[in-house]
Amino acid sequence: MIANEYSRVAQTTLPLDIDGTPRSFLAYAYRRDQPGDELIALVHRAPDSQGTLPTVRLHSACVTGDALGSLRCDCGHQLNAALSIIAASNYGILIYLSTHEGRGIGLSNKIRAYALQDTGVDTVDANVELGLAIDARDYAGAAAVLHDLGAPSVRLLTNNPEKVRALHRFGIAVEDRILLTGGETPFNHQYLATKRSRMNHWLL
Ligand SMILES: [Zn+2]
Repeated sequence: MIANEYSRVAQTTLPLDIDGTPRSFLAYAYRRDQPGDELIALVHRAPDSQGTLPTVRLHSACVTGDALGSLRCDCGHQLNAALSIIAASNYGILIYLSTHEGRGIGLSNKIRAYALQDTGVDTVDANVELGLAIDARDYAGAAAVLHDLGAPSVRLLTNNPEKVRALHRFGIAVEDRILLTGGETPFNHQYLATKRSRMNHWLL
C-alpha cells in the first residue's frame, strides 16, 4: 500500500507502437479500492547507477483525444509526443491518470462543456457556467506512484505550471521540464489560446 491509498497490484511487459517501431515498456497497475480508481504507469528502461533522471509525463486521460483522435484538444498529440520522447530516453515513465478525464470533471461533464463551447463560451467559462471546477485534477496519486517507483526527482514533460507545483507539494523535485509542442488544429485553436491566456500554460 502506498500513499493516497493506491496499491501496486500487477506488472507486465507492454509493447507499444512508437512511430511505427515496437518498443517495450514495463506496465505497472495501481488500484485504489475506494472509489475504485485505477491508473497505469509505463516505465521505459530501468534506473541506472549514474542516477539518470527519469523523463516523466503525467498524462491526464482524455477518451475523445487519446482513444478517438478528437481534434478539439491536443491530448492525443501530447500523448504520442510524450511516448516518443520517453521511448528515446535512457529512463522514462508515463503515468496515465484515468481519473483526470475532462480535467477531472468526467466524460459526461466534458461533453456538456463542449456543447456550451459550441455557443462561443471558452473552456474555462463553460465549466463555471455548469457549476464545475475549472480544473479538478489531483496529483497525489501520480506523486505516490513516482515515490513507489523510486523516482523522487524528475524531468517533466509538460506545458502546465500547475503540474510542476503539484509535484513539489507532494515531495517530487522537478529538476527540469521539457515543453511539448505542436498539435494545433483549426478545431482546437481557441482551446489552446484559452490554456495560454487563462490557465497560464507555457508557450503555444
Ligand atoms: Zn483532450
